[in-house]
Amino acid sequence: MDNSKKDSSKNSKETIQQILSDEIERRGLRKTPERFTILEEIYQTEGHFTVDSLYNQLNEKNYHLSRATIYNTVEFLYECHLVLKHYFHKEAEYEKCFNCKVHHHLVCTKCGMVKEFTDSNIRRDVQTRHYKKFDMTHFSLVVYGLCEKCQNNHQV
Ligand SMILES: [Zn+2]
Ligand SMILES: [Zn+2]
Repeated sequence: MDNSKKDSSKNSKETIQQILSDEIERRGLRKTPERFTILEEIYQTEGHFTVDSLYNQLNEKNYHLSRATIYNTVEFLYECHLVLKHYFHKEAEYEKCFNCKVHHHLVCTKCGMVKEFTDSNIRRDVQTRHYKKFDMTHFSLVVYGLCEKCQNNHQV
């Protein structure tokens, strides 16, 4: 799969809607407007989110959807490769991924801080790899350790 082709942002909005729409059709599901509302909200969100934070965000914008609807939709989008799912902590965290820059995460095992970083060498290394009987769509490296604040607390 080649995600390196750059779309303009207008195009990519139409493209992600099309991917969702095709997948809904393929599975014989109903094209409820909620799914597209959630998709749009996610693609306006920078960084990571949880089902709860997305629920609150939508609520503030007067979209009163149930947590179950949001959870099911986000999981569906994950299956469509439109969002990534991480387990840095107990609760799943998601982020948009279509046409987004490949990045990695530093996770502090003490305070839970998550910081993003990019590394073009790692990206090139993994993206050019072919895994046997496996079709790679995305990847993200997680590096564990102590953040600056926790290192300092450690030494005292
Ligand atoms: Zn820390
Ligand atoms: Zn991230």
